[in-house]
Amino acid sequence: MKLCKTVAELREEIALAKAAGKTIGLVPTMGALHEGHASLIKAAAMENELVVVSVFVNPTQFGPNEDLDAYPRTLDADCKLAESMGADIVFAPSPAEMYPSEDMTWVEVTGDITKVLCGRTRPIHFRGVTTVVSKLFNLAQPDHAYFGQKDAQQAEVIKRMVKDLFFNVQLRIMPIVREVDGLAKSSRNTYLSKAERAAAVVLSSSLETAKTLFDAGERDSKKLVEGVKKLIGDEPMADIDYVEMYALPGLKPVPEVLTEGQYLLAVAVKFGSTRLIDNVILEVK
Ligand code: AMP
Repeated sequence: MKLCKTVAELREEIALAKAAGKTIGLVPTMGALHEGHASLIKAAAMENELVVVSVFVNPTQFGPNEDLDAYPRTLDADCKLAESMGADIVFAPSPAEMYPSEDMTWVEVTGDITKVLCGRTRPIHFRGVTTVVSKLFNLAQPDHAYFGQKDAQQAEVIKRMVKDLFFNVQLRIMPIVREVDGLAKSSRNTYLSKAERAAAVVLSSSLETAKTLFDAGERDSKKLVEGVKKLIGDEPMADIDYVEMYALPGLKPVPEVLTEGQYLLAVAVKFGSTRLIDNVILEVK
């Protein structure tokens, strides 16, 4: 496996792969790789002849009071894990390599899709995500790009961007990988104290309860949302940012009574200073 730290090095590798007619899979990450990322890399390796994993803690998607400096950086371990899952290239550029000038071009998806859920408390987040993902798409020229359902709003926003900008890439949105007790794997889980870690299981357990009610026939969207709010609210260490439901695709408002279609029930909750997200998709057939 090759480690590329510059745009020039990556471009050279991509040119060689393209000349050889290879299909390319891209897995964008911020590193501190875990089994969630591993599942994306594995899927990419099954479907493509060249797999590029980017490891870049993207400064433009962090707000001023967020955890950019504290974010875990574990490049050596990331390279080992990426290689063991079938990656051919790890692209780990510096911020200056990705953002060479202070005057820069933004790629921004506008509208409610970036304003609801995480967009409300993280107003610049998705603009940073779409800008960096555009750069990565242009550099790696992937046939397929892999994202996790864990970041459901990010997946919706990127789908919108790919459609609007005619990016020639197929998106693959992979299922959420969880710890044994249900907590969604996340690089931010390492911030949790022992007590917070134990409390954080309420995210997945409350969503699971909502899914069980839904499967049993509950179609009142407010009842499902309020049920999750109550369960999380009962956990003293949990500080709710949001518990909300939107219709898919595109994060549109939900009707009071759910009719045919797919719905995203999503939560963001703080435990101390650590903010975690999780979600479940409910489908009325
Ligand atoms: P991150 O490094 O947090 O930016 O995540 C990189 C990619 O991995 C994103 O597409 C995430 O949605 C995905 N991802 C993160 N955690 C998980 C998980 N537990 N299961 C599946 N995908 C995940």
